[in-house]
Amino acid sequence: MYNHIQRLNNQIEDTKKLIENTHALLMENPSDPMLEYMIAQDKALLASLQHTRVQATLDYLKTITAPTQLIDELYPSSPFEISPFDVAHKLGIKVIKNPLLDDSEAGKCYINNDIVIEYKGYISHNRERFTVAHELGHVVKHMAHSNNTSFRDSSELLYARNDYIDSKDPTEKEADVFAGELLIPKQKLDLLLSSIQGDDRISTKLLCDIFKVSEGAIYHTLNKYGLGNSLKIKKEYSWL
Ligand SMILES: [Zn+2]
Repeated sequence: MYNHIQRLNNQIEDTKKLIENTHALLMENPSDPMLEYMIAQDKALLASLQHTRVQATLDYLKTITAPTQLIDELYPSSPFEISPFDVAHKLGIKVIKNPLLDDSEAGKCYINNDIVIEYKGYISHNRERFTVAHELGHVVKHMAHSNNTSFRDSSELLYARNDYIDSKDPTEKEADVFAGELLIPKQKLDLLLSSIQGDDRISTKLLCDIFKVSEGAIYHTLNKYGLGNSLKIKKEYSWL
């Protein structure tokens, strides 16, 4: 099913290029009826392909039960670091960095011609990664199961992830858990912990650097995996 999305991604890119090329020709031959006709045809084709892709992506995501399944299917070569931007790209989800977004909607996802994730730019790249992963969580866990739902997250809501406070809203918590498991894959963490010899320990600070996430994301995800009190992990949280 993921192959179907890949094919559509390619067809959509090709069609966009065709439209661009015809536009360039039209600049040289203004009002050429044949070129205008071609553009209109290609735009109609593009709209129809995008519509098909939105549905194909939502249908595919309905079959995804956990981030690990998504990682395994999208990345057969199993990279250590997961980029939520690349995950979105592979799924045909458009990601837009929009500095003009209000603080009340620091991250959001909705369906336009494409499935779109918009986020406010932050100083911290880690925070941007988490915001996009959180919105991906909404797309996979919620949007795919109820067509045409949109989600908005205030910066206050997203900021709570940066400390140890858990989100109270179950939908938000689900998106957070998804984001944590996507950015800190259990398999990679196990591999890392199994490489630690004897009494050595790895600090939570180092884990933040390795997985490019905030302390809050490490804290919640370690607890989720039952590793919150692992003897191999040294707790170095700023709130302790
Ligand atoms: Zn949210």
